[in-house]
Amino acid sequence: MKSETELVQTLLDWGAYRAGVVPVANIEFEPEFRKMCESNACGMYGKSWMCPPCVGPVDELIARAKGYRWALVYQTVDNLEDSYDFEGMMAAGQRMNELTQRVRAELADEFGPDALHLGAGGCRLCPVCAKREDKPCRFPDKALASLEAYGMNVSRLAELAGMKYINGQDTVTYFGAVLFGR
Ligand code: SF4
Repeated sequence: MKSETELVQTLLDWGAYRAGVVPVANIEFEPEFRKMCESNACGMYGKSWMCPPCVGPVDELIARAKGYRWALVYQTVDNLEDSYDFEGMMAAGQRMNELTQRVRAELADEFGPDALHLGAGGCRLCPVCAKREDKPCRFPDKALASLEAYGMNVSRLAELAGMKYINGQDTVTYFGAVLFGR
């Protein structure tokens, strides 16, 4: 297996702004974060298999996450034209989730098939999630839930990993993680 330094360098080479490994035991989980999803500010509540409530009860997801020993946490930082640059935010989210898919595909031997990959926001794999058509998930092996869906306190996670949660005016920061090791 690659060393922590090698894993971090791989993520930086692939376009992450920062990356780090933290013990899952130090991560703070808060079921209350689901209330943000329930407010449906993003319009995806109940519209994606990987968003609440379809992704599963938060207590079960937290218990699953706590079953791992380590989390490789990484962030992307992208520039926006201004704070209303919705297209820029969407493109940055897509870039993060493509990075997460690359981690899953190209580092599969490092983390094993049992690892838990989490991305930013809802799953962006299909242009329109099959949930909207009441059909099963098209790619259950690639579908991505978010850190927030698993109840993670992402601002605290950033601190744990030595990262800033916000990285300056007219930028957008997204987080991804892979949980591994038992
Ligand atoms: S892979 Fe496609 S169908 Fe499955 S959760 Fe993601 S967007 Fe929805």
